[in-house]
Amino acid sequence: MESPNEDRGIKNQKEPDPNPKSALSVNPGVADAPAISPYIRDQRKTLTRKETTAEELAEGIVSGNRTHLSKAITLVESNLEAHNDKAQAILELVMPKVGNSVRIGITGVPGVGKSTFIESFGSYLLEKNHKLAVLAIDPSSQRTKGSILGDKTRMEILSKSANAFIRPSPSSGSLGGVARKTRESMYLCEAAGFDTIIIETVGVGQSETQVHSMVDFFLLLMLAGAGDELQGIKRGIMEMADLIAINKADGANEPFAMRARVEYESALHLFPAPESKWTPRATTCSGIGGKGIEEIWNLILDYVSTTKTNGYYAKNREDQTRMWFEETLKEVVLEKYFARPGKKESILESEKKLMSGKSTLLKEIKHLMDT
Ligand code: GDP
Repeated sequence: MESPNEDRGIKNQKEPDPNPKSALSVNPGVADAPAISPYIRDQRKTLTRKETTAEELAEGIVSGNRTHLSKAITLVESNLEAHNDKAQAILELVMPKVGNSVRIGITGVPGVGKSTFIESFGSYLLEKNHKLAVLAIDPSSQRTKGSILGDKTRMEILSKSANAFIRPSPSSGSLGGVARKTRESMYLCEAAGFDTIIIETVGVGQSETQVHSMVDFFLLLMLAGAGDELQGIKRGIMEMADLIAINKADGANEPFAMRARVEYESALHLFPAPESKWTPRATTCSGIGGKGIEEIWNLILDYVSTTKTNGYYAKNREDQTRMWFEETLKEVVLEKYFARPGKKESILESEKKLMSGKSTLLKEIKHLMDT
């Protein structure tokens, strides 16, 4: 029978010493015990690494577990189908907890002071016991892998707070894909109990339209003294704004900011009255000094209460969901259609027939749809 020590992988030294009287004799001893207990080693072999399930992640999110929230957002952002399936399962589970936040979009050209403003505005909200999540859509990061919005760890106070959650822009995929990921991340943040969501974007390109279509309130930050063209702000973006804030209204710049405010306020009156029945306005602020921050928050609260009372708040969210559904459906259907084998060639053939007058438009379209 094996001794208990042998059973644990520890072998007794059995060889007797040929000359036990010699000073050089070696006393019988035991071999070194293995570094890892064989019991644990054997147990380890049978244990496979357990993955956190969708249910566990969903539960964690709802109970405010930030690690689970981050993990779920990573799944939402992944391009792997298995990850997406899991992300959708999590979203489905947390959906009853989604929607209880004020969603604020913030845009403005690089350098207007978005990060500084969000740091200041966010700190004000934290003092008022709000829980804030800051997400971003940065079209530059998809193209160049570099980002205009930059490293959000610049928001030092917010990134250290347990009541703030900052996540940079997802960096791969089409703008539509990035917008979907941001919207789903916003849902997850809401389920985790964040009552105020800021979605930041740069005021160049199409991303502000995407942000506008997922928020309740759209804030445009601008600078005094720089023409609209200089700031790259298109009329369409001004028209989407619920509030224009002339930033950096401090020091020698303050009087210019006050003047710009009056100009923008009158420019806003030229636009048709918005469906929200809330009159968009212009104000001044300073992200560095904190001036105007409280007023902006009060204006947002005023907007929320006005639009909740007149029904626009809920209707706008419904419209946004419908539009998002229709757009995503179109994108997926098109993608699937063009991915069908031989499709590209058939399209080229139809094109040729049309150009040479050998066929008609609707005949070719019917042919393409039927094959
Ligand atoms: P972003 O690119 O829009 O995120 O802008 P940043 O927040 O990074 O700010 C760009 C530059 O403007 C930085 O050098 C800031 O220090 C400066 N800045 C930001 N906010 C203010 C402000 O309220 N007043 C002044 N005077 N400078 C500001």
